[in-house]
Order: sequence, then structure tokens, then C-alpha cells
Amino acid sequence: MAWGGGFGGFGGGGHRSATDNGLPFGGIPSELMGEATKLLATEPHHEPANLTFTQRPTAKERQRLSLARLVGRYPGYLYGGSLLVIAISLVLQAGPKLTEYAINHGMVPGHHSLGVIAACGGLYLALALASVYLQRAQVDVTGRLASRVMHDLRIRVFTHLQRLSLGFFTDEKAGVLMSRMTSDIENLQQLVQDGISQFAIQGLTMVVITVILFTTNVTLASWTVLMVVPLLFVFSIWFHRASERGYLRTRDRIANVLADLSESLYGIRVVTANNRQRRNIRNHRHVVGAYRDANLYTGRVSSIYGPSTVMIGILGQGLLLAIGGRLVLEHKLTIGALIAFFLYLNRFFSPIQLLVQQYNALQQGRSSITRLRELLETRPGVDEDEDATDLGLVEGRITFDHVNFGYDPDRPVLTDVDLEIAPGESVAFVGPTGAGKSTIAKLANRFYDPTAGRVLIDGVDVRHVTLHSLRSQVGVVPQEPFLFAGSIRSNLAFGRPEATDDEIERAIDVVGLRDLVDRLPDGIGTEVHERGQTLSAGERQLLALARAFLAGPRILILDEATSSLDLQSETIVERALDRILEGRSAILIAHRLTTAQRADRIVVVDHGGVVESGTPSELLAAGGAYATMFAAWLASGGRDASRSVD
Ligand code: ATP
Repeated sequence: MAWGGGFGGFGGGGHRSATDNGLPFGGIPSELMGEATKLLATEPHHEPANLTFTQRPTAKERQRLSLARLVGRYPGYLYGGSLLVIAISLVLQAGPKLTEYAINHGMVPGHHSLGVIAACGGLYLALALASVYLQRAQVDVTGRLASRVMHDLRIRVFTHLQRLSLGFFTDEKAGVLMSRMTSDIENLQQLVQDGISQFAIQGLTMVVITVILFTTNVTLASWTVLMVVPLLFVFSIWFHRASERGYLRTRDRIANVLADLSESLYGIRVVTANNRQRRNIRNHRHVVGAYRDANLYTGRVSSIYGPSTVMIGILGQGLLLAIGGRLVLEHKLTIGALIAFFLYLNRFFSPIQLLVQQYNALQQGRSSITRLRELLETRPGVDEDEDATDLGLVEGRITFDHVNFGYDPDRPVLTDVDLEIAPGESVAFVGPTGAGKSTIAKLANRFYDPTAGRVLIDGVDVRHVTLHSLRSQVGVVPQEPFLFAGSIRSNLAFGRPEATDDEIERAIDVVGLRDLVDRLPDGIGTEVHERGQTLSAGERQLLALARAFLAGPRILILDEATSSLDLQSETIVERALDRILEGRSAILIAHRLTTAQRADRIVVVDHGGVVESGTPSELLAAGGAYATMFAAWLASGGRDASRSVD
């Protein structure tokens, strides 16, 4: 089974790129060097962060995720933004009052005054300019706040993902995780940058206008608040419920779209090889169609709500004009006040609509926060003990003490595995596919924990030691080695970044990769493309072996690739293995019996248990399962027959 995969990667050398013909990168042509240097000079320089990573989250990281907490870390921006919001809400409402004053004191017959009109006009203009300035400052402040908050959140979620255990990534689709990291965080960014301040401005505007309406005329204001507002309110509640349903649906469906997309891109080779394009398009049409339907639903809900509220506003204004006109005729209201009232009324309805629209953003932000909170509160299936100690340098004795295990607790995969591997001993696991060979090995470095029994290293239960110290002693070479975008050097030094070039070159010699490296234009500085697709399977496997050798673990777990290497590569890999295993305890999940035969001991695994164990010659002499496999292997001409047990 494959153990490969993983998140993250190296920052590749920024100025390198693939050449069109798929050959390894041959360097920047001299005529472009000047431009490249100029470009590099404009690159921002980021100081290396003073970063620590602990398997157990710190008290701060354990705090429940909430927008208030995220934003609260930047009180300067928060208070600055709030003051600006209040100032904007007040300044924006001065216009109609000035209009009223200009009409009543500058235009009404008997009260002509060009001076009053000019002063009001001038003041109006000055306030309008001030509001432009204030709004600019507010957008700037909230923009800065949002970028800082989202930066913190992105790092926090990524750090959390680094802590989660393998089971989580098997259960969760990568696309769903990507959507948490992209669309959910972007929703929040939108909310902090724009949503909350708009919500506050509109809310405050409503309060300010309500006060002004009542001070202008109590009768008209009472009609407004008693007639029009309740109608809008009831309608808005309907909208709120319907749109909430819609947004949940769109969120789920966009996650499906992303998941499908990432799976198709990741598996593009298999897709092409199996002529699955048409079916894939059909499937993608299906998920995209479901997303479109969800969007159509929310669009429909908004299309009913928007015009209807406008209609309610217009009818309300008609009613108020009739009542207000009467009041003017009865001299209970000045014309200036009536005009000001209507100017305010228009400004009163639009915040209600805007508030409800912003409510969508708020809603999206809230569900994004909930999802991110759920993600951040997921505890790793394999967690570090509160008082875990460092394992220290081990001799390499591995003990499986009556171990039971199932990925799904109801479906046991391993039952009562009892096995001891002595320091320096190499043990080959052989057996049919799906027997549980990889699973046993996965328990040794705590990719998973047994459901019963214990796994001990040098007599210490692996659950009681820190994951970092355990994994630096137990190296793993997965069946499908994963190479990250970056140079061969950075890929080899993955487990020990401080390794010197000399050490890296030595590892290359040990595994027999010298020929390959000498052929490459930049030696170990040559870039491998994403996942090492430009290298052959055998070369990738040798690189993975060199990586494990360089990390220098005391215990090595090697999931042998089933891909048939040609005879020459097989010989090179086997020679490399002999060198690497010297003095190390090792578990070899052997698919080729040639590998198994070289091990100190062979363990035959079947149906999740150990059925036979002994040196190759002992097992052949015993005439059991291994002897049967071996005979079948010989009969087939010595090719892959490790799975023919039974
Ligand atoms: P192979 O020779 O094909 O690599 P194996 O002996 O290594 O096979 P395992 O990978 O240990 O077999 O799998 C043992 C059983 O556990 C299989 O039935 C497999 O379907 C199941 N299994 C493996 N990985 C998972 C997983 N992540 N979640 C659920 N079941 C799993």
C-alpha cells in the first residue's frame, strides 16, 4: 500500500522554470540574465520567521476560533476603524438637514438669503469631501486589518493540518480541505475587509436617521416605524431563512466541485490512460450542475427580495406623502422639513436593504468560521501524550505486543500480531495483497495507534514518546516515493535540512545514483519537477532511499515498489539496500522474493496475522506457506510471485 503523499513542499528556486521540451532546466540564457537580476531585485525580502513547531498546540492555538479574537489581536486597527465608521455615519447624514435649513431660512418667501444658501451649500460640499476622505481612510484601515487577520488564520490552519494524523487525510478529501483554505478564508477576508464595517455603517445610519426622523416630525416618523418597518422586517426574516439554506447548499457544492477538480488533475495520467475524459466531463457536469442549481436558488431568493422591498418602500413613501402633505397644509410641518424627511426616508430604506444584503456576507462568514473552527478542533487520531518524553538514540528493538488494529474499529485488519525484531535485524514481510503487511509497519512509527496491545521500541511504548523523536529514529521509504518541487539537494535533505553537500553527495554514491546526477545539468542543484515526474520510477525510488539514508534513522521501514524495475535498476536498488540496511533494524515489505531472500528473517503475513517466521532457509525447509510461494516463484521463472500464498 502506498504511504506517499504529504502536504507542503519546498520553495523552488524562484528563477528557474521548466524548459519547453521537458528536459531538465539548463540555466538562464545570458541575454536574459540582466532582466532576471532586475526582477529578482524587486522581490520583497522576507526575514526568516522565528518559527517553532510543537506537536501539541500551544494554549493560544487551542483557543476557540472566533472573529472577535482574531480581530482583537489588532486593537489599533479595530478602534481606528470603529471611530471612522461612526464618523462616516454621522457626516453622511448632515446633507438633508442642511437642505432643510437652506430651504426654511434661505428660500421661503420673506426669508430670502443668498448668504444662508451659499453657506449651507459650502458646508454640504465640505462635509461631502470629508466623508470621501473618511471613507478612504476606513477602507484602508479595514483592508490592512483583514490582510493581517487572514494571514494569521492561514498560518494557523496550515499549522493545524501539519499536526493531524494520517487517518484524517485518508478520510477527508483534499479538495474539501482546499476549499477550507481558499473559499472559506476568502469569505472571512471579505467579511472583515468590507462586510462588518458596512454592516456597522448601515446599522448606525439607521439609528441616526431614526432619531432625526423623530426630531423632524413625530407623526410621520411613527407611521414609518409602525407601518413600513414591520413589513420590511417580516420580509427580511423570510429572506434570511431562505438564503441561509441556499448558502449552506452552495458551500457544500462548491467543495464538491473543488474535490472533483483536484482529483481529476491529480489523477490526470490515469484518466488519460483509461480514456475516462468523457465520463469525467459528465461527472464534472453533474457536480458543477448541482452547484449552479444552488446558485440559481440563492439568486432567485435575492431576486424576489430586492424588488419587493423597493416596492414596499415606494408604497410607504406614497402614504407618507399624503400624510405629510396634509400636515404642511395644516401648517404643522414646514416644506423644508417635509423635503428633509423624504430625503432621510430614502436613506432609511436603503440601509435596510443593504443590511440584508450584507447579511449574506455575514452569513457566509459565519458558516466559514464554523467550518474552520470544526477543522481546528479536530484532534489528531494519533496524539502526543501530555508527558511524552524524547526517545533518545535507540538500539532498534521493535516489539509488537499482541497488537490488534482496524482502520475502522468495527473491521479488524490486524489480530493479535506478536512479533519482535532484534536490533540490527532486517525482517521481510511477505504475503498476499491486503494481508496487512503495510498496516503492521504503519504502527511502528505511529501513523496509526493499535486498538489493543502495544508497540514498543527498545522496550518503550511508542505512545509515551514525542512524535518528533520517534519519527527521527524510524525512517520510512514509501512505496510511491514523493518528491517535492525543488532541487535534488532539497529533496534529499528533506529529513535533515542541515545536511552538507558532501553528505548529500555521499548518500548519492551509496545508493548508486552517481550516474544520474552526473548526467544532470546542475548536479544536485537540478530542479525536479512536481512529484518528480521527469524521473523514472527507479530513479525516484533511489532518491527516496538516499533521502532515508541521509536522515540516518536507526530503524528503517521500506515499502517496496511493486512496479517492475528493469533488471539493472533492480540490481542497483538491491545493492543500495544492502548498504543502507547495514547495522539498522529494518522492516521490508517485500513484493519481490529476491528482496525477501536477502533479509535476515522472513515473516509471512496473512489475514492480518503472522503465520510463519524464520530465516529464509528455515522457512524453505519447513515446507509451509513461504515454501509454497517460493516454489511458485521458481516455477514462474523467478518473477514476482510473492502474492501467491494460499
Ligand atoms: P499490499 O501487498 O497490496 O501492499 P498489504 O498487505 O500491505 O497489501 P495493507 O495495506 O496493510 O495490506 O492493508 C490491509 C487491509 O487494510 C486491506 O484490506 C486494506 O483494504 C485495508 N486498508 C489499508 N489502508 C486503509 C485505510 N487507510 N483505510 C481503511 N482500510 C485500509
